[in-house]
Amino acid sequence: MVTVDRDRCNGCGECVAVCPHAALSLEGNSPRAVLTAAERCMECGACGLNCPEAAITGNFGVACFACMTQQALSGKQSSRCACAC
Ligand code: SF4
Ligand code: SF4
Repeated sequence: MVTVDRDRCNGCGECVAVCPHAALSLEGNSPRAVLTAAERCMECGACGLNCPEAAITGNFGVACFACMTQQALSGKQSSRCACAC
């Protein structure tokens, strides 16, 4: 589960921009990142890697399901995917 430390978050929106599954949003009058669609999160870790405040933690490394599916269908293996996972 991805967790955002609201005290560290500066509302820059980088995590929202890089999330390949639109699982994060900025919310509030002083916007902070919120995991608004946890069911879409694949724990790829892109949000955490791109957060300049190290405000996001999670059980990263499970890998992106979309990436694994694409690789399985294409028969091509890659160490990276569009999600940067
Ligand atoms: S990248 Fe980090 S600091 Fe920026 S909005 Fe997301 S959690 Fe907050
Ligand atoms: S771990 Fe990946 S899928 Fe989950 S919120 Fe972060 S960027 Fe989005």
